[in-house]
Amino acid sequence: NLEQGPEGPETPIQVVLRVRPMSAAELRRGEQSVLHCSGTRTLQVSPPGGGPDVAFRFGAVLDGARTQEDVFRACGVRRLGDLALRGFSCTVFAFGQTGSGKTYTLTGPPPQGEGVPVPPSLAGITQRTFAWLLDRVQHLGAPVTLHASYLEIYNEQNRWGTVRDLLSLGAPRPLPVRWNKTRGFYVEHLRVVEFGSLGALMELLQMGLSRRRSSAHTMNQASSRSHALLTIYISHQTVSQMPPVDPGEPPAGGKLCFVDLAGSEKVAATGSRGELVIEANSINRSLLALGHCISLLLDPQRKQNHIPFRDSKLTKLLADSLGGRGVTLMVACVSPSAQCLPETLSTLRYASRAQ
Ligand code: ADP
Ligand code: MG
Repeated sequence: NLEQGPEGPETPIQVVLRVRPMSAAELRRGEQSVLHCSGTRTLQVSPPGGGPDVAFRFGAVLDGARTQEDVFRACGVRRLGDLALRGFSCTVFAFGQTGSGKTYTLTGPPPQGEGVPVPPSLAGITQRTFAWLLDRVQHLGAPVTLHASYLEIYNEQNRWGTVRDLLSLGAPRPLPVRWNKTRGFYVEHLRVVEFGSLGALMELLQMGLSRRRSSAHTMNQASSRSHALLTIYISHQTVSQMPPVDPGEPPAGGKLCFVDLAGSEKVAATGSRGELVIEANSINRSLLALGHCISLLLDPQRKQNHIPFRDSKLTKLLADSLGGRGVTLMVACVSPSAQCLPETLSTLRYASRAQ
């Protein structure tokens, strides 16, 4: 349980593995489960047709019987939330192939129909963190100002990705990523919305989610090829009373970012010990860049090295979380089915090398 970590961020990246239950379709096709948890931190992979089991260790391993609440607790997101309140940039990202449960883990299942609410017990890490954070802020009585933004990075139009504002008031248009000394990397003209209640924040989340879903229908599963970044900016009033450098710029302070990454399929992780080398098609260029930055950040010999955050829009926008005052939690998601094993092994290797 990562909840019991020491006060500060001891390791920059923590990795939790979630195995989703077998789906109805997988069961119907008679597919075998090849993954099982042994204890709370080890995953055993039994290759179909014999061969020795392979074990992977993570900060926590959660099997298909674990509820959304179990996952929230095991991920130690409350600790991340406290760090964000103290000014750290904290990121939770979900990694895995399409259909492995990334969106379910972060934001729960889609509604079953128009006006049919998703039961609160199925709410994801994001909604649970929101509820916790607003409760915490109220409890602390801290003079805190909260803002949110929600964007999507598409990997289709060009190899760098295209940023779209999921909260834009008009039709979303591509937005440029810029850099300056005070802000680091930021998205120009991104709508950053101040909110004061849990209800208002949930509405922003729903707006972004439904925009993502509707674009996924018209653009042929585009959601599996895009990264969605939902960011909460936490600023203490003393800071926010200073005039912002740019209109629309959120005041400096802590950040909490939830990233639903593009499907990792066709990303092959290979490499020698302690190194993360990934071959990817152009769609997953940013996952390659992310893995590369992580491997450089984790290698003590290369600490002094230049980290190539500029290699993708995703890594630019996560630069302050990955380096500097950042704490990152990766939730690696996998299917238990034998049919998914090649992709699952690729996810397990990527995730193992990130810790
Ligand atoms: P991804 O975002 O990785 O493509 P999804 O989150 O959309 O995958 O999950 C694929 C399907 O499996 C969805 O129908 C989702 O509701 C279901 N699912 C994923 N994880 C779980 C889980 N832990 N329990 C029950 N259903 C799940
Ligand atoms: Mg998804």
